[in-house]
Amino acid sequence: MSQDSQPASGAQPASGAQPASGAQPAPGVGEQSASGSPNPPIEDAHSGGIDDEQAKRVVRKRSYGRTASEMRPVEIEPGFVRTATGSALISMGETRVICTASAQEGVPRWMAGKGRGWLTAEYGMLPASTGDRKARDISKGRLDGRSVEIQRLIGRSLRVIIDLSLLGERTIYLDCDVLQADGGTRCASITGAYVALALACQRLQSKERIERSPLTGSIAAVSCGVVGGVAMLDLDYGEDSNAEVDANVVMTGEGGLVEVQATAERTPLSRASLDELLALAADGIGELRADQERVLADVS
Ligand code: UDP
Repeated sequence: MSQDSQPASGAQPASGAQPASGAQPAPGVGEQSASGSPNPPIEDAHSGGIDDEQAKRVVRKRSYGRTASEMRPVEIEPGFVRTATGSALISMGETRVICTASAQEGVPRWMAGKGRGWLTAEYGMLPASTGDRKARDISKGRLDGRSVEIQRLIGRSLRVIIDLSLLGERTIYLDCDVLQADGGTRCASITGAYVALALACQRLQSKERIERSPLTGSIAAVSCGVVGGVAMLDLDYGEDSNAEVDANVVMTGEGGLVEVQATAERTPLSRASLDELLALAADGIGELRADQERVLADVS
């Protein structure tokens, strides 16, 4: 978990810290054995403050019996929300996020009259997505700082691969709602939001609202980090909350780096380790791109 994430009522700030109330993953997450998947017994990780030997045990028992360079199973269900212009339910292991893309006529006032569209994103965790119920922002009367940080990341990332001048004066709202959180929710949101956006663009084209697709490429994201001295791809909650280094990497389908959020929590990150993490992430994003392409090809 990145150190600058500051969930109002939720996640613990850094590795080794005691999890605050609301900072547990979904019930059942982390309870099953690696051999039987989905997740290994990583109770130590959940209670925080593990030593290096324990961290190595976590490494040996990755969820789904994964090696350090493997991702959790990914599933993308397109059209999950029929009422949205485009949508997808994405699962990365136990992390599940509903992503919708809703097109609306008009743009924010500061953009009006320019003939260009706009794309923006919102992110939220549903109350039961974590072990302890996470209160909705509306009931606290303010938006959680972590949610603001994540939704800006999602919006920035998706704007990289859309030509807003081809959208006309309309806005696409990407809404990413976490059904179940087990680490990597911002990355799953970006990967799923791309599918929702591509489906929304297809629908706008089929209704002749736009002449051609405004998409200029694809985008996906994956987390990686160093846990117990080992570089690993796609951290689940137990790994994320005990990582010495935690990174979220956003890349285009062509391999262009869009954003790298890397935080060293105990020891500084060397340039060589960063390169190793980026190489892991690039492989993972290659797989995610193939998943996205397959899903979109099946729909059209
Ligand atoms: N988490 C939680 N409650 C919160 C925030 C986070 O239980 O309020 C858990 C959740 O499993 C999440 C993980 O901590 O996926 C890592 O959170 P982080 O802020 O690093 O974001 P993410 O990895 O989900 O993008």
